[in-house]
Amino acid sequence: MIGLVNYAKDPGSVELRELPIPEIGEDDVLLKVHAVGICGSDLHQYSGKQSWHVNYPVVLGHEFAGFIAKLGRRVVGFREGDQVVSETAAVLPQDSALIRQGLYNLDPGRLGFGYGVDGAMAGFVKAPARCLHHIPPSLTLEKASLTEPCCVAYNAVCVNSHMRPGDSVAVIGPGPIGLLCAVMAKLSGAGHLIVIGTPSDTKRLEVALQVGADKVLGAHGEDVAEWVKNFGDGLGVDLVIDAAGVSASLKLALEITRPAGQITKVGWGPQPVNFSLDPLVQKAITLQGSFSHNWPIWEKVLSLLASGKIDLGPVLNRISPLSEWHDAFEQMHCGAIVKGVLKP
Ligand SMILES: [Zn+2]
Repeated sequence: MIGLVNYAKDPGSVELRELPIPEIGEDDVLLKVHAVGICGSDLHQYSGKQSWHVNYPVVLGHEFAGFIAKLGRRVVGFREGDQVVSETAAVLPQDSALIRQGLYNLDPGRLGFGYGVDGAMAGFVKAPARCLHHIPPSLTLEKASLTEPCCVAYNAVCVNSHMRPGDSVAVIGPGPIGLLCAVMAKLSGAGHLIVIGTPSDTKRLEVALQVGADKVLGAHGEDVAEWVKNFGDGLGVDLVIDAAGVSASLKLALEITRPAGQITKVGWGPQPVNFSLDPLVQKAITLQGSFSHNWPIWEKVLSLLASGKIDLGPVLNRISPLSEWHDAFEQMHCGAIVKGVLKP
């Protein structure tokens, strides 16, 4: 089979290679990959800028949907030919306190597809059966492959944030996760939904309006803090989702969150914050991290996708063969498209 391999930390160390079809264990399935989403983390690894450990060489891709081609001896509940999506915790310890809590996504021993073990930008991928969910018939496999980033957004907005209908919500960073967070905030009844970007996000901020943002800011260098001062009672917004991750976005989040409000940080940024966190104390703001997702979130998101309540139309801008990976990566990197899906 052909697979897209990230073979070293140096920028650009990604190429298509001929690979053996993976051998599966008793509790695994072999999936014939039908569609695989390109994630910001694939782009980070492509440019060698990731802040996590990568087991080189590794096949990229952790957002995928496919057909079961082969079942391990002990797998129950699935049959050959079933259409499935897979969660990302490819390797977990046998047992741990976090696994028993259902929080295996936070287990330090977790290894994910695309960095820890071979991912799905290839003809086939090996996945443990415990990771799988059936795809409802009304959902295309291309859209189903984006279940994973929807789950990241669902966890950030609907599980880790305390949000009520009518709350004002600002999302900083209109990348795929930020836009999907905007979708979740809209679904949760945001009273006023603001999406904030930079002048390089013009295209993505247009998509933010399509997914239901009431206001987009930043495309023309607007003073966001000043705008929020003139919004509503002037005290700030109830909830800020930081999906950008750089220190400037957390600084802005602290400026625009109202007293007793919440900031949920889902964006990564390896650099030190380099500013005072005193506004967090003074305004008694809750700062919450959010990472990954677990089984109940996948089931909820799949039902929302199947019913059309989550519409991926505005976000999924390109479906291409795996051979066009380079062009698709570049288009996503420069913001020309929000999200691309590859077909091996
Ligand atoms: Zn992802």
